[in-house]
Amino acid sequence: MTPAVFKMPLAAAMAFTTMVALTPQPTPGIKSGAETIAAAAGKAIYFQYPLPSWDPHCLGFGSEWRYCDGTVLRRCAATGAVWLHTAVDIKTAIQPVMAAANGVIIGYIVDPQFRGGVLIRHETTNGIVITQYWHVWPRDGYRVGTAVRKGEVFGDIADMGSRTHFHFAVFTGDYEANAWRGALPPARCEGFPAFPSRFVNATDYVQARLQPEPQKIVHHCRLDPQL
Ligand SMILES: [Zn+2]
Repeated sequence: MTPAVFKMPLAAAMAFTTMVALTPQPTPGIKSGAETIAAAAGKAIYFQYPLPSWDPHCLGFGSEWRYCDGTVLRRCAATGAVWLHTAVDIKTAIQPVMAAANGVIIGYIVDPQFRGGVLIRHETTNGIVITQYWHVWPRDGYRVGTAVRKGEVFGDIADMGSRTHFHFAVFTGDYEANAWRGALPPARCEGFPAFPSRFVNATDYVQARLQPEPQKIVHHCRLDPQL
């Protein structure tokens, strides 16, 4: 591997130094252009899918909360109503998991059945949104309080054998305990709010907020006005 060495010509280096020296110092209380850009970069404007492919697994948004073999995961004791899935489950091998948007990790818990759960809080132009990732192990250096960028790998899919999959939800609101829920009852029971509470279809949410592709050159063909 050849080390990349960049040498700036002396004249250019001097010009650069002069430019920096002449840059006006920001007035206290007024954000400089650079600060404004930095603040905007931290905002979640665009979202992306946390995995490179997005093939539905057994459960979608609002599906009854069951294993793929149909075994019910949870019911309301009083009514027997099966809880409903707040996320979309996605087929995956063991692979890296990316942040869906710029944000900050605000939660990490380990469940013996479901392995690691991670919450990332995003400041969007329409308020606070939390993305929920289950069956994921965070990588070294990623903990509560870590800022992440859209597309940044922060974890890896947990091995659950034949049940290995990825669970991804979008909670539209700031943190509350229910942001951790992988499912909710169809009607309020046992102190839990009714599905969907503040959850929305995560696939639809991301799809509507993907960063537009760079403009491609389009050759306009003259259409026959008779058509
Ligand atoms: Zn799930």
